[in-house]
Amino acid sequence: MSTLISTEDREGRSLPVIRERGQREVFCGLTSIVWLHRKIQDAFFLVVGSRTCAHLIQSAAGVMIFAEPRFATAILEDRDLAGLADANDELDAVVDRLLSRRPDIKMLFLVGSCPSEVIKLDLAVAAKRLSKRFLPKVRVLNYSGSGIETTFTQGEDGCLAALVADTAASKTAKPSLLVVGALADIVEDQFGRLFKALGIDDVKFLPGRTAGTQPEIGPNTHYLLAQPFLRDTARALDELGAQRIDAPFPIGAEGTTEWLRAAANIWGVDEARFERAIELPRSRAEKSLVRYRETLQDKSIFFFPDSQLEVPLARFLSRELGMQLLEVGTPYLHQDLIEKELDFLADTATLSEGQDVDAQLDRCLEAQPDITVCGLGLANPLEAKGLVTKWSIELMFSPIQGFDQAGDAAELFARPLIRKRRLAV
Ligand code: SF4
Repeated sequence: MSTLISTEDREGRSLPVIRERGQREVFCGLTSIVWLHRKIQDAFFLVVGSRTCAHLIQSAAGVMIFAEPRFATAILEDRDLAGLADANDELDAVVDRLLSRRPDIKMLFLVGSCPSEVIKLDLAVAAKRLSKRFLPKVRVLNYSGSGIETTFTQGEDGCLAALVADTAASKTAKPSLLVVGALADIVEDQFGRLFKALGIDDVKFLPGRTAGTQPEIGPNTHYLLAQPFLRDTARALDELGAQRIDAPFPIGAEGTTEWLRAAANIWGVDEARFERAIELPRSRAEKSLVRYRETLQDKSIFFFPDSQLEVPLARFLSRELGMQLLEVGTPYLHQDLIEKELDFLADTATLSEGQDVDAQLDRCLEAQPDITVCGLGLANPLEAKGLVTKWSIELMFSPIQGFDQAGDAAELFARPLIRKRRLAV
Protein backbone atom coordinates (compact mmCIF):
# COMPACT_ATOMS: atom_id res chain seq x y z
CA MET A 1 0.00 0.00 0.00
CA SER A 2 1.44 3.42 -0.97
CA THR A 3 0.41 6.88 0.21
CA LEU A 4 1.91 10.05 -1.18
CA ILE A 5 2.28 12.61 1.55
CA SER A 6 4.26 15.77 1.72
CA THR A 7 6.55 16.97 4.45
CA GLU A 8 8.20 20.35 4.84
CA ASP A 9 11.74 21.43 5.61
CA ARG A 10 12.39 24.27 8.03
CA GLU A 11 12.04 26.87 5.30
CA GLY A 12 8.60 25.57 4.39
CA ARG A 13 9.70 23.95 1.12
CA SER A 14 7.74 20.82 0.42
CA LEU A 15 9.28 17.36 0.10
CA PRO A 16 7.10 14.65 -1.44
CA VAL A 17 7.29 11.40 0.54
CA ILE A 18 5.85 8.09 -0.66
CA ARG A 19 4.90 6.17 2.48
CA GLU A 20 4.65 2.43 1.86
CA ARG A 21 3.58 -0.61 3.84
CA GLY A 22 4.05 -3.96 2.14
CA GLN A 23 6.56 -6.69 1.42
CA ARG A 24 10.08 -5.72 2.53
CA GLU A 25 13.52 -6.92 1.49
CA VAL A 26 15.93 -6.23 4.35
CA PHE A 27 18.34 -8.09 6.60
CA CYS A 28 17.46 -8.44 10.27
CA GLY A 29 19.21 -6.68 13.17
CA LEU A 30 21.45 -9.65 13.95
CA THR A 31 23.65 -8.52 11.05
CA SER A 32 24.94 -5.58 13.08
CA ILE A 33 26.80 -8.00 15.37
CA VAL A 34 29.28 -8.27 12.51
CA TRP A 35 30.63 -4.76 13.16
CA LEU A 36 29.66 -4.40 16.84
CA HIS A 37 31.73 -7.38 18.02
CA ARG A 38 34.81 -5.79 16.48
CA LYS A 39 34.07 -2.46 18.14
CA ILE A 40 33.61 -3.45 21.81
CA GLN A 41 36.66 -5.58 22.26
CA ASP A 42 35.73 -7.48 25.42
CA ALA A 43 32.03 -7.96 24.64
CA PHE A 44 30.36 -11.18 23.56
CA PHE A 45 27.11 -11.41 21.59
CA LEU A 46 25.03 -14.48 22.39
CA VAL A 47 22.17 -14.77 19.91
CA VAL A 48 19.24 -16.62 21.39
CA GLY A 49 17.71 -18.02 18.25
CA SER A 50 17.25 -20.78 15.74
CA ARG A 51 19.53 -22.59 13.30
CA THR A 52 18.56 -19.99 10.67
CA CYS A 53 19.94 -17.24 12.93
CA ALA A 54 23.15 -19.23 13.45
CA HIS A 55 23.58 -19.63 9.68
CA LEU A 56 22.87 -15.96 9.00
CA ILE A 57 25.32 -14.67 11.55
CA GLN A 58 28.02 -17.13 10.55
CA SER A 59 27.76 -16.43 6.83
CA ALA A 60 27.42 -12.65 7.30
CA ALA A 61 30.47 -12.53 9.58
CA GLY A 62 32.55 -14.78 7.33
CA VAL A 63 35.84 -16.05 8.63
CA MET A 64 36.38 -15.36 12.31
CA ILE A 65 39.54 -13.29 12.63
CA PHE A 66 39.96 -13.67 16.38
CA ALA A 67 41.65 -16.52 18.25
CA GLU A 68 38.42 -16.82 20.26
CA PRO A 69 35.02 -15.99 18.78
CA ARG A 70 33.03 -13.04 20.13
CA PHE A 71 29.59 -14.23 19.09
CA ALA A 72 27.63 -17.45 19.06
CA THR A 73 24.06 -18.70 18.85
CA ALA A 74 22.25 -20.54 21.64
CA ILE A 75 19.81 -22.56 19.56
CA LEU A 76 16.33 -23.00 20.97
CA GLU A 77 14.40 -25.81 19.33
CA ASP A 78 10.59 -25.97 19.20
CA ARG A 79 9.12 -25.99 22.64
CA ASP A 80 5.75 -25.18 24.16
CA LEU A 81 5.12 -22.74 26.99
CA ALA A 82 5.51 -25.53 29.58
CA GLY A 83 9.11 -25.90 28.43
CA LEU A 84 10.04 -22.26 29.11
CA ALA A 85 11.41 -22.90 32.60
CA ASP A 86 13.78 -25.41 31.02
CA ALA A 87 14.70 -22.87 28.33
CA ASN A 88 15.70 -20.37 31.03
CA ASP A 89 17.73 -23.04 32.83
CA GLU A 90 19.39 -24.01 29.56
CA LEU A 91 20.24 -20.40 28.80
CA ASP A 92 21.74 -19.94 32.29
CA ALA A 93 23.79 -23.12 31.82
CA VAL A 94 25.08 -21.91 28.42
CA VAL A 95 26.07 -18.55 29.95
CA ASP A 96 27.73 -20.33 32.90
CA ARG A 97 29.83 -22.48 30.59
CA LEU A 98 30.72 -19.54 28.35
CA LEU A 99 31.80 -17.20 31.16
CA SER A 100 33.78 -19.80 33.03
CA ARG A 101 35.65 -20.76 29.85
CA ARG A 102 36.15 -17.13 28.75
CA PRO A 103 37.30 -14.88 31.60
CA ASP A 104 38.18 -12.20 28.99
CA ILE A 105 34.44 -11.45 28.45
CA LYS A 106 33.43 -8.35 30.42
CA MET A 107 30.11 -7.56 28.75
CA LEU A 108 27.58 -10.07 27.49
CA PHE A 109 24.71 -9.17 25.18
CA LEU A 110 21.78 -11.59 24.95
CA VAL A 111 20.45 -10.86 21.48
CA GLY A 112 16.82 -11.77 20.82
CA SER A 113 15.59 -13.03 17.47
CA CYS A 114 12.21 -13.67 15.85
CA PRO A 115 11.45 -17.41 16.11
CA SER A 116 8.29 -17.81 18.19
CA GLU A 117 10.00 -19.90 20.87
CA VAL A 118 12.47 -17.02 21.47
CA ILE A 119 9.75 -14.38 21.59
CA LYS A 120 8.16 -16.30 24.47
CA LEU A 121 11.38 -15.98 26.50
CA ASP A 122 11.76 -12.72 28.43
CA LEU A 123 15.41 -11.87 27.73
CA ALA A 124 15.24 -8.63 29.75
CA VAL A 125 14.41 -10.69 32.84
CA ALA A 126 17.10 -13.23 31.92
CA ALA A 127 19.70 -10.43 31.55
CA LYS A 128 18.79 -8.98 34.98
CA ARG A 129 18.95 -12.43 36.59
CA LEU A 130 22.35 -13.16 35.02
CA SER A 131 23.71 -9.68 35.78
CA LYS A 132 22.93 -10.22 39.47
CA ARG A 133 25.04 -13.37 39.38
CA PHE A 134 27.96 -12.10 37.34
CA LEU A 135 28.34 -8.41 38.25
CA PRO A 136 30.77 -6.71 38.83
CA LYS A 137 32.87 -8.99 36.63
CA VAL A 138 30.45 -9.18 33.70
CA ARG A 139 27.60 -6.87 32.75
CA VAL A 140 24.76 -8.76 31.03
CA LEU A 141 22.46 -6.75 28.74
CA ASN A 142 19.87 -7.63 26.16
CA TYR A 143 18.37 -6.23 22.97
CA SER A 144 16.45 -7.52 20.01
CA GLY A 145 17.95 -8.25 16.60
CA SER A 146 14.69 -9.77 15.40
CA GLY A 147 13.69 -9.53 11.76
CA ILE A 148 10.11 -8.55 12.61
CA GLU A 149 9.61 -4.92 11.58
CA THR A 150 13.32 -4.12 11.70
CA THR A 151 16.13 -3.42 9.33
CA PHE A 152 19.72 -4.40 10.01
CA THR A 153 21.01 -1.10 11.41
CA GLN A 154 18.32 -1.24 14.11
CA GLY A 155 20.50 -3.92 15.69
CA GLU A 156 23.12 -1.27 16.48
CA ASP A 157 20.43 1.09 17.74
CA GLY A 158 19.06 -1.62 20.05
CA CYS A 159 22.54 -2.46 21.34
CA LEU A 160 23.51 1.16 22.09
CA ALA A 161 20.09 1.95 23.58
CA ALA A 162 20.55 -1.05 25.94
CA LEU A 163 23.98 0.26 26.96
CA VAL A 164 22.58 3.73 27.70
CA ALA A 165 19.50 2.40 29.50
CA ASP A 166 21.79 0.43 31.80
CA THR A 167 23.78 3.57 32.69
CA ALA A 168 22.75 5.64 35.71
CA ALA A 169 22.47 9.37 34.94
CA SER A 170 25.52 11.10 36.31
CA LYS A 171 24.63 14.50 37.78
CA THR A 172 28.29 15.23 38.39
CA ALA A 173 29.57 14.35 34.90
CA LYS A 174 31.65 17.28 33.62
CA PRO A 175 30.55 19.09 30.43
CA SER A 176 31.54 16.74 27.66
CA LEU A 177 30.91 15.87 24.06
CA LEU A 178 29.64 12.38 23.32
CA VAL A 179 29.90 11.06 19.75
CA VAL A 180 27.29 8.35 19.33
CA GLY A 181 27.44 5.50 16.82
CA ALA A 182 29.89 2.69 16.07
CA LEU A 183 32.66 4.17 13.93
CA ALA A 184 35.86 2.53 12.73
CA ASP A 185 38.67 3.16 15.25
CA ILE A 186 40.66 5.08 12.65
CA VAL A 187 37.71 7.44 12.08
CA GLU A 188 37.24 7.96 15.83
CA ASP A 189 40.94 8.84 16.16
CA GLN A 190 40.68 11.39 13.34
CA PHE A 191 37.62 13.00 14.92
CA GLY A 192 39.34 13.01 18.31
CA ARG A 193 42.24 15.01 16.80
CA LEU A 194 39.89 17.44 15.06
CA PHE A 195 37.91 18.12 18.24
CA LYS A 196 41.19 18.68 20.08
CA ALA A 197 42.25 21.20 17.43
CA LEU A 198 38.93 22.95 18.02
CA GLY A 199 39.66 23.12 21.75
CA ILE A 200 37.00 20.51 22.66
CA ASP A 201 39.04 18.25 24.92
CA ASP A 202 36.56 16.12 26.79
CA VAL A 203 35.25 13.91 23.96
CA LYS A 204 33.91 10.39 24.51
CA PHE A 205 32.59 7.85 22.06
CA LEU A 206 29.64 5.50 22.44
CA PRO A 207 30.13 2.58 22.32
CA GLY A 208 33.45 2.68 24.17
CA ARG A 209 36.10 0.27 22.92
CA THR A 210 35.90 -1.87 26.07
CA ALA A 211 33.33 -2.55 28.79
CA GLY A 212 35.37 -0.39 31.18
CA THR A 213 35.43 2.66 28.89
CA GLN A 214 31.69 3.21 28.48
CA PRO A 215 31.13 6.95 29.05
CA GLU A 216 29.42 8.71 31.94
CA ILE A 217 26.24 10.43 30.76
CA GLY A 218 24.23 13.20 32.39
CA PRO A 219 22.69 16.65 31.89
CA ASN A 220 26.13 18.10 31.09
CA THR A 221 26.57 15.73 28.17
CA HIS A 222 26.03 17.13 24.68
CA TYR A 223 25.72 14.33 22.18
CA LEU A 224 26.36 14.31 18.46
CA LEU A 225 24.94 11.39 16.47
CA ALA A 226 27.39 9.94 13.97
CA GLN A 227 24.74 7.63 12.48
CA PRO A 228 21.21 8.64 11.45
CA PHE A 229 19.46 5.46 12.59
CA LEU A 230 19.95 5.77 16.36
CA ARG A 231 16.36 6.72 17.26
CA ASP A 232 16.02 4.56 20.40
CA THR A 233 19.54 5.42 21.57
CA ALA A 234 18.77 9.14 21.25
CA ARG A 235 15.60 8.65 23.27
CA ALA A 236 17.52 6.78 26.01
CA LEU A 237 20.14 9.58 26.11
CA ASP A 238 17.40 12.21 26.36
CA GLU A 239 15.97 10.33 29.33
CA LEU A 240 19.33 10.69 31.12
CA GLY A 241 19.14 14.44 30.50
CA ALA A 242 21.79 14.54 27.77
CA GLN A 243 21.33 17.21 25.10
CA ARG A 244 21.33 16.38 21.40
CA ILE A 245 23.26 18.61 19.02
CA ASP A 246 21.23 19.02 15.86
CA ALA A 247 23.51 18.41 12.86
CA PRO A 248 23.75 16.74 9.48
CA PHE A 249 25.89 13.56 9.38
CA PRO A 250 29.66 13.44 8.80
CA ILE A 251 29.63 12.03 5.27
CA GLY A 252 31.55 14.02 2.65
CA ALA A 253 33.46 17.28 3.02
CA GLU A 254 30.31 19.35 3.51
CA GLY A 255 28.57 16.94 5.90
CA THR A 256 31.71 16.58 8.03
CA THR A 257 32.25 20.37 8.12
CA GLU A 258 28.67 21.05 9.22
CA TRP A 259 28.73 18.20 11.76
CA LEU A 260 31.89 19.58 13.37
CA ARG A 261 30.54 23.13 13.16
CA ALA A 262 27.41 22.14 15.11
CA ALA A 263 29.60 20.97 18.02
CA ALA A 264 31.95 23.96 17.68
CA ASN A 265 28.97 26.34 17.97
CA ILE A 266 27.91 24.76 21.28
CA TRP A 267 31.47 25.12 22.60
CA GLY A 268 31.67 28.73 21.39
CA VAL A 269 34.62 28.11 19.06
CA ASP A 270 35.23 31.22 16.98
CA GLU A 271 35.10 31.07 13.19
CA ALA A 272 38.83 31.77 12.72
CA ARG A 273 39.84 28.86 14.96
CA PHE A 274 37.25 26.60 13.31
CA GLU A 275 38.56 27.39 9.82
CA ARG A 276 42.18 26.91 10.93
CA ALA A 277 41.41 23.49 12.40
CA ILE A 278 39.54 22.07 9.44
CA GLU A 279 41.13 23.88 6.48
CA LEU A 280 43.68 21.21 5.55
CA PRO A 281 41.60 18.03 6.02
CA ARG A 282 38.61 19.64 4.30
CA SER A 283 40.72 20.63 1.33
CA ARG A 284 42.15 17.04 1.18
CA ALA A 285 38.57 15.73 1.17
CA GLU A 286 37.49 18.12 -1.59
CA LYS A 287 40.51 17.16 -3.70
CA SER A 288 39.82 13.46 -3.19
CA LEU A 289 36.33 13.89 -4.67
CA VAL A 290 37.46 15.52 -7.92
CA ARG A 291 38.49 12.29 -9.67
CA TYR A 292 35.19 10.58 -8.84
CA ARG A 293 33.06 13.54 -9.89
CA GLU A 294 34.09 12.86 -13.46
CA THR A 295 32.41 9.43 -13.25
CA LEU A 296 29.42 10.33 -11.09
CA GLN A 297 28.41 13.79 -12.33
CA ASP A 298 24.86 13.78 -13.82
CA LYS A 299 24.43 10.03 -13.28
CA SER A 300 21.08 9.06 -11.79
CA ILE A 301 20.72 7.06 -8.60
CA PHE A 302 17.81 5.18 -6.99
CA PHE A 303 17.91 4.06 -3.35
CA PHE A 304 15.92 1.10 -2.06
CA PRO A 305 15.29 1.39 1.71
CA ASP A 306 17.87 -0.64 3.60
CA SER A 307 20.72 0.81 5.69
CA GLN A 308 18.97 4.02 6.90
CA LEU A 309 22.05 5.88 5.64
CA GLU A 310 20.20 6.74 2.44
CA VAL A 311 19.30 10.36 3.16
CA PRO A 312 22.81 11.58 4.18
CA LEU A 313 24.33 9.62 1.28
CA ALA A 314 21.87 11.14 -1.17
CA ARG A 315 22.76 14.62 0.10
CA PHE A 316 26.49 13.87 -0.32
CA LEU A 317 26.13 12.34 -3.79
CA SER A 318 23.91 15.09 -5.16
CA ARG A 319 25.60 18.14 -3.64
CA GLU A 320 29.26 17.12 -3.74
CA LEU A 321 29.32 14.80 -6.76
CA GLY A 322 26.54 16.15 -8.96
CA MET A 323 24.41 12.98 -9.07
CA GLN A 324 20.71 13.12 -9.90
CA LEU A 325 18.46 11.67 -7.22
CA LEU A 326 15.51 9.72 -8.61
CA GLU A 327 14.09 8.16 -5.44
CA VAL A 328 15.60 8.06 -1.97
CA GLY A 329 14.01 5.19 -0.07
CA THR A 330 14.65 4.68 3.63
CA PRO A 331 13.06 2.17 6.02
CA TYR A 332 12.29 4.91 8.55
CA LEU A 333 12.33 8.66 8.15
CA HIS A 334 13.33 9.90 11.61
CA GLN A 335 12.47 13.45 10.70
CA ASP A 336 13.75 15.09 13.88
CA LEU A 337 17.15 13.38 13.57
CA ILE A 338 17.62 14.16 9.88
CA GLU A 339 16.03 17.59 9.71
CA LYS A 340 19.34 19.25 8.79
CA GLU A 341 19.80 16.71 5.99
CA LEU A 342 16.30 17.37 4.66
CA ASP A 343 17.11 21.10 4.49
CA PHE A 344 19.84 20.24 1.96
CA LEU A 345 17.66 17.84 -0.04
CA ALA A 346 14.61 20.02 -0.66
CA ASP A 347 13.44 20.09 -4.30
CA THR A 348 15.98 17.51 -5.42
CA ALA A 349 14.38 14.13 -4.79
CA THR A 350 11.33 12.06 -4.00
CA LEU A 351 11.66 10.35 -0.65
CA SER A 352 10.04 7.06 0.21
CA GLU A 353 9.63 5.58 3.67
CA GLY A 354 8.95 1.92 4.36
CA GLN A 355 8.65 -0.51 1.49
CA ASP A 356 6.29 -2.27 -0.85
CA VAL A 357 8.99 -4.00 -2.82
CA ASP A 358 6.97 -4.87 -5.95
CA ALA A 359 5.71 -1.30 -6.35
CA GLN A 360 9.19 0.05 -5.78
CA LEU A 361 10.75 -2.37 -8.26
CA ASP A 362 8.24 -1.17 -10.86
CA ARG A 363 9.24 2.45 -10.22
CA CYS A 364 12.93 1.59 -10.35
CA LEU A 365 12.69 -0.37 -13.60
CA GLU A 366 10.67 2.40 -15.17
CA ALA A 367 13.19 5.05 -14.07
CA GLN A 368 16.20 3.01 -15.33
CA PRO A 369 18.75 4.64 -12.98
CA ASP A 370 22.46 4.58 -13.77
CA ILE A 371 23.04 3.05 -10.33
CA THR A 372 20.71 1.40 -7.82
CA VAL A 373 21.55 1.05 -4.13
CA CYS A 374 19.81 -1.96 -2.62
CA GLY A 375 20.07 -5.02 -0.39
CA LEU A 376 21.82 -8.20 -1.48
CA GLY A 377 18.54 -9.96 -2.25
CA LEU A 378 17.57 -7.43 -4.91
CA ALA A 379 20.98 -6.86 -6.47
CA ASN A 380 21.25 -9.99 -8.63
CA PRO A 381 17.75 -9.79 -10.16
CA LEU A 382 18.34 -6.10 -10.95
CA GLU A 383 21.78 -6.80 -12.44
CA ALA A 384 20.12 -9.52 -14.58
CA LYS A 385 17.83 -6.80 -15.93
CA GLY A 386 20.84 -4.72 -16.92
CA LEU A 387 20.94 -2.30 -13.96
CA VAL A 388 24.15 -1.44 -12.11
CA THR A 389 23.80 -2.01 -8.36
CA LYS A 390 25.61 -1.20 -5.14
CA TRP A 391 25.00 -3.30 -2.00
CA SER A 392 23.92 -0.98 0.76
CA ILE A 393 25.39 -3.22 3.47
CA GLU A 394 28.88 -2.38 2.13
CA LEU A 395 28.30 1.18 3.33
CA MET A 396 28.15 -0.08 6.91
CA PHE A 397 31.21 -2.29 6.62
CA SER A 398 33.42 0.41 5.04
CA PRO A 399 34.61 3.49 6.93
CA ILE A 400 32.90 6.35 5.06
CA GLN A 401 32.64 9.07 7.73
CA GLY A 402 34.96 12.03 8.05
CA PHE A 403 37.17 14.10 5.76
CA ASP A 404 39.77 11.42 5.08
CA GLN A 405 37.15 8.88 4.02
CA ALA A 406 35.18 11.18 1.66
CA GLY A 407 37.06 9.89 -1.41
CA ASP A 408 36.52 6.26 -0.32
CA ALA A 409 32.79 6.91 0.06
CA ALA A 410 32.64 8.34 -3.47
CA GLU A 411 34.71 5.47 -4.84
CA LEU A 412 32.18 2.93 -3.55
CA PHE A 413 29.64 4.43 -5.96
CA ALA A 414 32.03 5.10 -8.85
CA ARG A 415 33.51 1.57 -8.88
CA PRO A 416 30.47 -0.29 -10.32
CA LEU A 417 30.08 2.36 -13.03
CA ILE A 418 33.77 2.16 -13.95
CA ARG A 419 33.48 -1.64 -14.08
CA LYS A 420 30.48 -1.41 -16.40
CA ARG A 421 32.35 0.99 -18.67
CA ARG A 422 35.34 -1.36 -18.84
CA LEU A 423 33.17 -4.39 -19.64
CA ALA A 424 31.49 -2.47 -22.45
CA VAL A 425 34.81 -1.73 -24.20
S1 SF4 B 1 16.31 -13.17 13.71
FE1 SF4 B 1 14.62 -13.85 12.38
S2 SF4 B 1 15.13 -12.94 10.39
FE2 SF4 B 1 17.02 -12.90 11.61
S3 SF4 B 1 18.08 -14.82 11.06
FE3 SF4 B 1 16.87 -15.22 12.93
S4 SF4 B 1 14.95 -16.08 12.12
FE4 SF4 B 1 15.96 -15.05 10.39
